[in-house]
Amino acid sequence: MKVPLLDLKRQFEGIKDEIMAATEEVYQSQQFILGPKVAELEDNVATYCKGKYAVGVSSGTDALLISLMAAGVGIGDVVVTTPYTFFATVGAIVRVGAQPLFVDIDSKTYNMDPGKLEDALSALGEQERSRVKAVIPIHLYGQCADMEPILKIAEHYGLAVVEDAAQAIGAEYQFQDGRVKKAGAMGSYGCFSFYPTKNLGAAGEGGMVVTQDETTYNHLKILRNHGDIKRYEHGFVGGNFRLHAIQAAVLIIKLKYLDEWTNQRIANANSYRNAFKEAGLDNILLPVEKEKRHVYHQFVLRVEKGRDRLKAFLNENDIGCEVYYPVPLHMQACFRHMNYAPEDFPESKKAALETLALPIYPELGNEEIYYVVDNIKKFMKIEKKEG
Ligand SMILES: *Cc1c(COP(=O)(O)O)cnc(C)c1O
Repeated sequence: MKVPLLDLKRQFEGIKDEIMAATEEVYQSQQFILGPKVAELEDNVATYCKGKYAVGVSSGTDALLISLMAAGVGIGDVVVTTPYTFFATVGAIVRVGAQPLFVDIDSKTYNMDPGKLEDALSALGEQERSRVKAVIPIHLYGQCADMEPILKIAEHYGLAVVEDAAQAIGAEYQFQDGRVKKAGAMGSYGCFSFYPTKNLGAAGEGGMVVTQDETTYNHLKILRNHGDIKRYEHGFVGGNFRLHAIQAAVLIIKLKYLDEWTNQRIANANSYRNAFKEAGLDNILLPVEKEKRHVYHQFVLRVEKGRDRLKAFLNENDIGCEVYYPVPLHMQACFRHMNYAPEDFPESKKAALETLALPIYPELGNEEIYYVVDNIKKFMKIEKKEG
């Protein structure tokens, strides 16, 4: 049996006619940039996230970049995030001329540890602290960061909160008073990616920023189009961050199926849990569900010993699996000048060495899930023998 890490063709088969018809409509209209399809998608995404406004942009990376620009983050400023995320999170910080201030992750969720955020901010002198303008929590692998304390700390220090929700569309977070909010609708800016492999994927690049504030919404729309206030009158320096109509047309169709697909991801996660239990593999740590609705963008194991050997073994047996973020950001060559040591963020370093993502896409079958776990069991037997 062959189990790929992701198989987008299976999803496309089921919705091909709808997608092709929607795409043809855009070709017939010959309106390829922004326009009614993008506006419709923005409305639908804002409603889906139970947020007020949404602005379609060119990618998840640009969603982060335009949010930092709208928040007024620039040269000499500092933005807090974690070193265990996709590069785009920190790339956006540096591209507006700011510096990242890293804080470590929680070992169970891989998300920003709010206690470490507070420690990092309170350790700064007053002048340094005044340079910190924003914090970017990432809802990694499809589970929300612990937003309640992060929002409180951000409010206390006067920081904008830019949620990196690229992997978490539809994820939910419950506050202590019982209120439930969706990923992207808690901070000042909620950034989504429609990269084809994400839970809601376009037929190319795309992204979205969700906000609750009308002034911010209008500012984002201006920045998206080179800071154009009126035609050829530029109030700000923005960029070309526009979303394509074809992407919007595809995403309008796919958004209708998102909850069905997400529930299938959750069902697959439960099947994995059952299969691991039956196999008696208790030396492997399964994903910890701490927040309300984990949307399983990835199903990430923690294997304390032999992670790379397990990956090679699964690949040899035609099972797709991947190490996300083998090099934490504080160890990247482009940040050498910041003089971080690997041990500065021990949980990020450990996660980079121990985690492995298994196939979890909605169309994955139960027999495939059992085949994957069976092979992991085989591997563990061999490891034991070889001591
Ligand atoms: C995918 C991703 C991004 C960037 O999105 P693109 O659409 O690929 O630009 C940013 N942050 C995280 C955590 C991501 O997974």
